[in-house]
Amino acid sequence: MHRTDIIVIGAGIAGASVAAELAAAGRSVVLLEAESTPGYHTTGRSAALWILNYGPRDARILTGASRGFFETPPAGFVDHPLTHRRAVLNLAPAGQEAKLAAMLAEGEGMRPLSEAEARALLPAIRPGYAVGAAIEEDAFDIDVAALHQGYLRMLRAAHGQVVTDARADAIGRRGGAWEVATPAGAFAAPVLVDAAGAWGDVVARLAGVAPIGLTPMRRTALLVDGPPGHDPATWPLVGDVAHSWYARPEARRKLMLSPADETPMEPHDVQPDELDLALAIDRAQAALDLPVSRIEHRWAGLRTFTPDRSLAIGPARGEDGFFWMAGQGGYGIQTAPAAAKLCAALVLGRDPAALGLAEAARLADPGRLIA
Ligand SMILES: Cc1cc2nc3c(=O)[nH]c(=O)nc-3n(C[C@H](O)[C@H](O)[C@H](O)COP(=O)(O)OP(=O)(O)OC[C@H]3O[C@@H](n4cnc5c(N)ncnc54)[C@H](O)[C@@H]3O)c2cc1C
Repeated sequence: MHRTDIIVIGAGIAGASVAAELAAAGRSVVLLEAESTPGYHTTGRSAALWILNYGPRDARILTGASRGFFETPPAGFVDHPLTHRRAVLNLAPAGQEAKLAAMLAEGEGMRPLSEAEARALLPAIRPGYAVGAAIEEDAFDIDVAALHQGYLRMLRAAHGQVVTDARADAIGRRGGAWEVATPAGAFAAPVLVDAAGAWGDVVARLAGVAPIGLTPMRRTALLVDGPPGHDPATWPLVGDVAHSWYARPEARRKLMLSPADETPMEPHDVQPDELDLALAIDRAQAALDLPVSRIEHRWAGLRTFTPDRSLAIGPARGEDGFFWMAGQGGYGIQTAPAAAKLCAALVLGRDPAALGLAEAARLADPGRLIA
């Protein structure tokens, strides 16, 4: 039995970031990952954006509070910038005018654009597609792989351990410690953090802890060539105001397309559905002059939501030493730095107000999800 202060289950961005923060605070930490490669599931499949005006209030607070980390990571965390400026262009076809007005009224740093201004910025927009638009200029791409690796390095530098091929398949509480059995050995610690992404409720049930109603939802993505004669590298991310599709510029004149689907399913190694791939192309082609002759790459990932779509960060009510770091939905990358600091503070018994995160802690309290 390997004994440690804290066991974190799941080495996606949620688990890697909180494990690194806890190790940096001087605790001995073991990070258990079911797969051979950390980041194999949702973390390795994201669109990698930081958009302030996205998600519920707690996600927006955590996104804003993470900005400093992305722009100025700790010394030695990465050897190149984690961010690349990328505006977000929201197009409103006829019928989405009310949603556009609400977006402009509620959004921070959003400004309206006419159809002509939108087309000047992104000339492949089909004339007549949009009756209006909103732009959020202050947004950026995140180098997710570098962020994730940076946290794993930070964990190891603080004497934390990452154990792969270590699916927690039995969890019990004995003598004030959580005991976790895995194919890579048995581990025990007084504190366990559930950062298992789509498997968050599965891990809780294994431990005899009440689930919080997590729903994994499939989101599909594909990579195609950008339109001939254009270099999408300089384009904003573009989509409709109703979030029924988006196109994200990639390196080598490529575009990532998504139908922004949300299909509930059981946690598993999710693959894209042909219909969703076709929908993504169809919706993008309605908006953009974009011939698609070949799909270069296709994938899907599970975005996992709580019933109210806020995150779940903090202690499980009535369960000694069991903490949630779950429900990251579509904002787990952009919230990771602040969410990890918040979760670490709660595990260490520190006041989230000292981080300026008292409101986020209240909104993300997993206790709200238990009857
Ligand atoms: C197409 C797409 C686009 C997205 N775009 C964005 C974006 O632009 N910006 C943004 O912020 N977010 C985005 N997201 C969401 C973001 O990717 C997720 O919120 C985030 O990656 C979730 O991280 P996680 O660590 O919770 O989950 P995961 O990365 O899935 O990690 C959970 C880990 O737990 C492990 N695990 C499960 N059960 C066990 C067990 N019993 N024992 C040990 N290990 C276990 C799994 O193997 C897995 O590695 C997007 C997601 C998708 C799919």
